Amino acid sequence: MDGVSFMENPHSTPADECVLLYYKYVRIDDPRSFAGDHRALCRGLGLRGRIIVAEEGINGTVGGTDEAADTYRRALSEDPRFADMPFKLSRGAAGAFPKLSVKVRPEIVTLGANLPFDPKRDATGHLPPSEWKRVAEEDPEAVVFDVRNRYESDVGRFRGAVTPPIDHFRDLPRALEDYGHLRDKKILMYCTGGIRCEKASALFRRAGFREVYQLEGGIMNYERELAGREDLWEGDCFVFDNRVVLPMGTARGEPPAGTCAHSGRATHRYVNCIHNPCNRLFLVAEDLLAGSPDYRLCPDCLAAGLTAATADNKSRPTANGA
Ligand SMILES: [Zn+2]
Repeated sequence: MDGVSFMENPHSTPADECVLLYYKYVRIDDPRSFAGDHRALCRGLGLRGRIIVAEEGINGTVGGTDEAADTYRRALSEDPRFADMPFKLSRGAAGAFPKLSVKVRPEIVTLGANLPFDPKRDATGHLPPSEWKRVAEEDPEAVVFDVRNRYESDVGRFRGAVTPPIDHFRDLPRALEDYGHLRDKKILMYCTGGIRCEKASALFRRAGFREVYQLEGGIMNYERELAGREDLWEGDCFVFDNRVVLPMGTARGEPPAGTCAHSGRATHRYVNCIHNPCNRLFLVAEDLLAGSPDYRLCPDCLAAGLTAATADNKSRPTANGA
């Protein structure tokens, strides 16, 4: 569960601020110098967030004023490599991120499967949200497959989706071995913004899955395109910043679709287990938290006899996506 933790109190969102989520698989010849220029651009605009640059492309989530976000989008679209890059926009602010981080990595999303991945050849089978939904509803051979981590699907997911018990995307290749019986089914996969599906679909095909479709633009695109007709979706959407949860179902007045790890009650409140090095992210009912700080320990740590007083919670981890 390393690397996933959040500030306790989500920041309030000023009306004129937003968060942009985007990625593109496109050849970047000199990621290091690109990242340097990009950092300067973001600093100049006062944007905060997390951007990963690799030879295979760019993956970012940034928050700031609407004006800064607009300027940023325009600056990117003037670069022919990113001219057609879609942006998913949500309410949120620079406060959703502790700082600006622009990093160079071997992959823009880490699968680490030694997968020969060529986006031009492998990133196929995209279905727009309405079409993806139609197949999910009408085709009895279709299997909806969530390629996100377990702690993400905990708080919201498509109804009936297969949700592998993984803590990292890089664990998916191993987990996939347990789903060989689905190889002849029509796989409808999805993730938050689409980036993981690009690689996951190539991975599934290599593993012998014959028909693999990805939800274009992910949950964020589905929510935007099908506003009012999202009915296959239940719950809220986990996001990798200090907002933690983007209200979707609960914003429409539905009860939370998450389950408290201690009490089994409906909730969408996450905490990191306060025992370091556990720090596991889990869901807990709000009133349990109010009742005793011991419920900030995950069920395993609590069962091991730890209490809030005896847990090692001296060092505070920092927010970092997966
Ligand atoms: Zn724990």
